[in-house]
Amino acid sequence: MNWRKDPPMNKYNSNDVTKNENRINGDVKKSRKTSGKASIAGEADKASQTSGSAPAEAKQLPDFKFSMANQPLRKMPGGTAREATAREFPVSQNIAAVLMTLRPGGLRELHWHANAAEWAYIIEGSVRVTILDPQGRLEIADFVKGDIWYFPRGHVHSIQGLGPGKTEAKFLLVFDNGYFSEFATFSISDWLAQTPKEIVAKNLNVSPDELTTLPKSEVYIAEGPVPPKTGVVPISGPGTFLSPPLSHKYQLRSQKPFVKSSSCQVRLASAGEFPISTTMTGALMTLHRGGLRELHWHPNADEWQYVLSGKIRLTVFASSGLSSVVELEPGDIGFAPMGYGHALENVGEGTAELILVFNSGDYQELSISTVIAAQPSYLLESNLYLPEAVIKKLPRKQEFITSGHHARP
Ligand code: MN
Ligand code: MN
Repeated sequence: MNWRKDPPMNKYNSNDVTKNENRINGDVKKSRKTSGKASIAGEADKASQTSGSAPAEAKQLPDFKFSMANQPLRKMPGGTAREATAREFPVSQNIAAVLMTLRPGGLRELHWHANAAEWAYIIEGSVRVTILDPQGRLEIADFVKGDIWYFPRGHVHSIQGLGPGKTEAKFLLVFDNGYFSEFATFSISDWLAQTPKEIVAKNLNVSPDELTTLPKSEVYIAEGPVPPKTGVVPISGPGTFLSPPLSHKYQLRSQKPFVKSSSCQVRLASAGEFPISTTMTGALMTLHRGGLRELHWHPNADEWQYVLSGKIRLTVFASSGLSSVVELEPGDIGFAPMGYGHALENVGEGTAELILVFNSGDYQELSISTVIAAQPSYLLESNLYLPEAVIKKLPRKQEFITSGHHARP
């Protein structure tokens, strides 16, 4: 997290890094192995092996851009959902997302995810979540614009629209597995519908006749009245469930930002700021007109991007002479795989705002300005063929976000 302060430029805790990278690499391998699809690294390897004599199409990279807005809408009376999983967006093997809306009272039913943790950002409106962990600890919390949540894998949760008024809540759900959806999201209505009625009745201490109104299939999004503002207690009574030691909620937009100027701000929640978020880091970035989030890479995580407003040019360097440039507009997703060099530039007329999600709770990066500032001048002369006069002008510390400085004193 060196970018939130000025140097020291490289101060990673090597123990944490090793531990985290082992875990991430393990997850990546597992996911790619079971996916049955070519990994990004695999495609790049194939292209590099054949470079030189290969036909042009062998050098093509996967698409690093995906339009969420063009996805089919799953529409229900209580709300809507659109998905971007690895099936639709193959480069994103380890991160998937859902853009969801809920009307006031609309209820994303009780469910859990067998293979992914869930991270969310509230774009508009307000929702209430209930979340129960395996230790039987309960959190019921309301979320407004700019708040995020993190639900560890397997923890059961619900989400309900609170308005205000007739406002539909709109939020982004991001999962640390590109295949979170298929055969891995477990809904309570589906479960009870698929279980013999006498077993359900025996389990719930009622007669099968009393369960005739249970849903016959998965509800997914239900409709209900808007929940009361206060005094919400479980049916077991007040105080019957303890609260978890770590909250699932973090107010990202209220965080004091890392500021370069009034129109350029970055807020970030890794496990350091938001301790329960052990496998994901989220950030909210406002980029001024012409602003460039400089060339950099993340040694331990993929980066998933969602544009809220403005126009962003994403460049991705894939090694072996391969790179890609795409332009992202509001509702578009961009992706930079782990270790791939990338940069983000605001090429629109105004300020741009985007959400960034990384599939590690330990935020790490290396920027080109840091890499260059760390080298002796003779090395840069030999490596980059630059004369001493130009080397004198190069950055002496990390730029992070820049507009370019054509002349330095
Ligand atoms: Mn969920
Ligand atoms: Mn990045």
